[in-house]
Amino acid sequence: MTLTGGVQTLKSVGQARLALLNKLGIYTIEDLLEYFPRDYLDRSYISQISELVDGQMATIRVVMAKEPQVLLKNRKTITKIVFTDGTGRIEAAWFNQPYMRNNFKRNTEYLISGRVAERFGMLAIESPETGDLSAGRIVPVYSLTAGISQKILRGLISQAMESTVGQIVDFMPDDIKNAHNLCNREFAIKNIHFPESGEAYFDARRRLVFEELFLMQAALMSAKGHLKSAKGRVFADLDTSEMLAALPYSLTDDQQRVVEEICVDLKSGYATNRLIQGDVGSGKTAVAMIMCFLAVKNGAQAALMAPTETLAAQHYQSFSEIFGKFGMKVELLAGSINATEKMVIKRRLQSGDIDIIIGTHALIQQNVEFADLGLVITDEQHRFGVRQRGKLNEKGENPHVLVMTATPIPRSLAMVLYGDMDISTINQLPPGRQTIDTFCVTSAYHERIFKFMRNEVAVGHQAYIICPLIDESKSEGFKDVNSVLVFADKLQNGPFADIPLQVLHGRMKSEEKNHIMQSFSAGEIKILVSTTVIEVGINVPNATVILIENAEQFGLSQLHQLRGRVGRSDKKSYCILVTDTSNNLTKKRMTAMTGTNDGFELSELDLELRGPGEFFGTMQHGVPKMRLANLYKDMKLLPETRAAIEMLRPEYQPLRIKIAQMLKNFQQISL
Ligand code: ADP
Ligand code: MG
Repeated sequence: MTLTGGVQTLKSVGQARLALLNKLGIYTIEDLLEYFPRDYLDRSYISQISELVDGQMATIRVVMAKEPQVLLKNRKTITKIVFTDGTGRIEAAWFNQPYMRNNFKRNTEYLISGRVAERFGMLAIESPETGDLSAGRIVPVYSLTAGISQKILRGLISQAMESTVGQIVDFMPDDIKNAHNLCNREFAIKNIHFPESGEAYFDARRRLVFEELFLMQAALMSAKGHLKSAKGRVFADLDTSEMLAALPYSLTDDQQRVVEEICVDLKSGYATNRLIQGDVGSGKTAVAMIMCFLAVKNGAQAALMAPTETLAAQHYQSFSEIFGKFGMKVELLAGSINATEKMVIKRRLQSGDIDIIIGTHALIQQNVEFADLGLVITDEQHRFGVRQRGKLNEKGENPHVLVMTATPIPRSLAMVLYGDMDISTINQLPPGRQTIDTFCVTSAYHERIFKFMRNEVAVGHQAYIICPLIDESKSEGFKDVNSVLVFADKLQNGPFADIPLQVLHGRMKSEEKNHIMQSFSAGEIKILVSTTVIEVGINVPNATVILIENAEQFGLSQLHQLRGRVGRSDKKSYCILVTDTSNNLTKKRMTAMTGTNDGFELSELDLELRGPGEFFGTMQHGVPKMRLANLYKDMKLLPETRAAIEMLRPEYQPLRIKIAQMLKNFQQISL
């Protein structure tokens, strides 16, 4: 049997079972061996029957005391066997498994494991698990699918292991293993499934997690090397003074520094590949503008892609104002633009008549072509699949690439996720910003809140109200959660009857959304009741209050993003979180929100509260899935795996092959 052979080469795998295994993603023997347990049961302690108590989970070593009995009750069979270990007797029972009677021989010892019950002074154990793989040891627990039991999977994995002894290649070279105290791979695979001891399990897991993080980082870094060596055009003219003079403010030190960091890339002869991280409101757009300015000055076209139409339209507006002064041509390409107009824009892009194009996903469509795309910027990059980003980059010849995000992620995670990119961070907010005061209250405070909002509107400010749902009728499973439509209706017919109020949500047509955003931006609408469609990047400096209904429905990073819609000028701003939920998680989130305005701090907490799976699920599409490593728990291994990568030498062929395979997996989703 070979590792690359199909699982059907195992005994007891026929067509039906094969299909079930495939469903679990298991095709080859190797897949099976790398199907790691999701949990373990410690059944290594063997109890004596005399010490068992009612309700206990226990494992005992026994022989049959009587011949098996099969009873029929309500058309079900019950197989009963009395066992003994010399200290007492216990009756095991199995339902509808009449074949169990044949599984035990006289005068033979068996390990059985299950929950003990005491009835009328008699000990019983119901449907116990038996056999060396399921009792008397630390027992693996796998994710299953209907038709495959723990016992079956344990059996198959054990069989696979026995039939491939000596075949598991250790691609990790000895000196890396020695330097980092790693056990060999065969031992690791064996002990991750069937640990000989607690210690063996920890060694096994550490080795496999190390390997996973190592391969992932090495693959990302080799991709980075690859990109670095990709020739990029040199932007010789890096004079930004005209642009700086045109901006209505002077750059913060952080903006200035980031601009300089990018300029180093731009003249290096290599293609820039840089992530710009900056908290909400830190002024990333200005950096994007300056870079577009440089691109055009150096004879190239620039593209800026945003995740929503509203945001693209907003960028278009601010870009048009500035770039008009230089005679540079800016256009908008988004889904809502009519077909004829689109055609004209595409033709002008292709001929080079347009200098800067701003758009949504519409930009990555196949028939969008550029005369000479030299700079690609993606705003709020976490909203895009990594693949989508890549598609835009491909429309130029090694264009300089910048991606911007307002969702800060913990440093060590950035190291893994953006191992292929350089990172610039804007920590500082523009001057004059006041901290946003954040409060958390129950819905009993509604009246007071509404009064407060009326006052804000009365002095000329504007407000957002966020509800988790669009429409209550669609709210199955969301009892007592406010919806945009119902809540807005209530306000309009009550406390805000005389205030221009509008709703905004994802089911509206793009044109309608744009129109509403524009009137809000122009100050015609005073209160906007919206779902989280406004979360991403919207900039209305005159808005000073954001009220978030059912705040318990949102994650921390999301709440922070929403809060970032206010406090965008020197006006004092407020964030009011309303929740009637008081469970622990909600409490922690609310305390964090009222306690700090620092996005980095909140993202660390968010990660901790939610765990990496969910954290990334909502944050980043296309992050490679980890088999074993837990990016939160195993973070302390990251510096070690980094160090190990430094030890990587050309003669480590098997390891290099592994890295190349990993890289291939990534390229389907990333870069
Ligand atoms: P984000 O980083 O969240 O995308 P924006 O680029 O939308 O932030 O900027 C937020 C607000 O700050 C905008 O109104 C912008 O005009 C303003 N701004 C940006 N840079 C500065 C600066 N250096 N001084 C003053 N205001 C600035
Ligand atoms: Mg922005």
